Amino acid sequence: MNNVARMKKTAKKFVIANWKMHGNLEQNQSLLTHYVNQLNSLKQTQVVVCVPYPYLSQVQSVLEHTDLAWGAQNLAKNLNGPFTGEVSAEMLKDFGCEYVILGHSERATAYCESDENIAQKFMMAKQHGITPILCVGETLIEREAGVMELKVGKQLDTIIDLYGVDVFNDAIVSYEPIWAIGTGLAASPLQAQAMHQFIFDKLTQSKEAQKNRVKILYGGSVNPQNALQLFKVENIDGGLVGKCSLSAPAFEDICQAAELSVG
Ligand code: PEP
Repeated sequence: MNNVARMKKTAKKFVIANWKMHGNLEQNQSLLTHYVNQLNSLKQTQVVVCVPYPYLSQVQSVLEHTDLAWGAQNLAKNLNGPFTGEVSAEMLKDFGCEYVILGHSERATAYCESDENIAQKFMMAKQHGITPILCVGETLIEREAGVMELKVGKQLDTIIDLYGVDVFNDAIVSYEPIWAIGTGLAASPLQAQAMHQFIFDKLTQSKEAQKNRVKILYGGSVNPQNALQLFKVENIDGGLVGKCSLSAPAFEDICQAAELSVG
């Protein structure tokens, strides 16, 4: 099944592992083997593993012929050319990547990625049949000032203004409050619900968009204790998981929570 076919199974939750810059060949092999043994028979949950570029070949060889999918954590906005250190969409396709995380706040902050840059990458992924996982979210200062919807709205509007709202059809957006990432302090279900409703309303205006509905995930300190409560919230279609994806038992519990939250 390809990624668009997967997305069309709208009831399915997504749990996406973001390994960030962690791992080595030996550790990855063990973690991926655990993932496959524990998660290959899930019925209601699509698991996606986003790894550093050098391990795409390894993840491809372990996960192909399983129900787990894989992806990368960034993508060049250009097709090819003199862009030292960049990796193109075609290159990701060579390693069977079906997903790519874009606009993660750790990149946006450390590498000064603009919303326009991220928008171009989003389009590049779509044009190559790679499902973009677009990260959006506000800082603590923005939340305390009550401008979180303005911030997230602007991140989405940059893409909508350039390419139209239907470009989000079959894509994934991950709401990741920056203050929740890696802090152990997740958004409350109420905070998440309000933002997910805002994103849902913004991105499902047309009939076409309702049919090919964008998936909206929550990311930021998801763990085995809070996953079920978060995944049961309306318009939360699963989670993007950093730290807990590096522990096979914790990640399994989170995926089981996704499974339980459906139906
Ligand atoms: C992330 O960085 O995408 C993330 C959600 O990290 P963590 O789960 O560690 O907060």
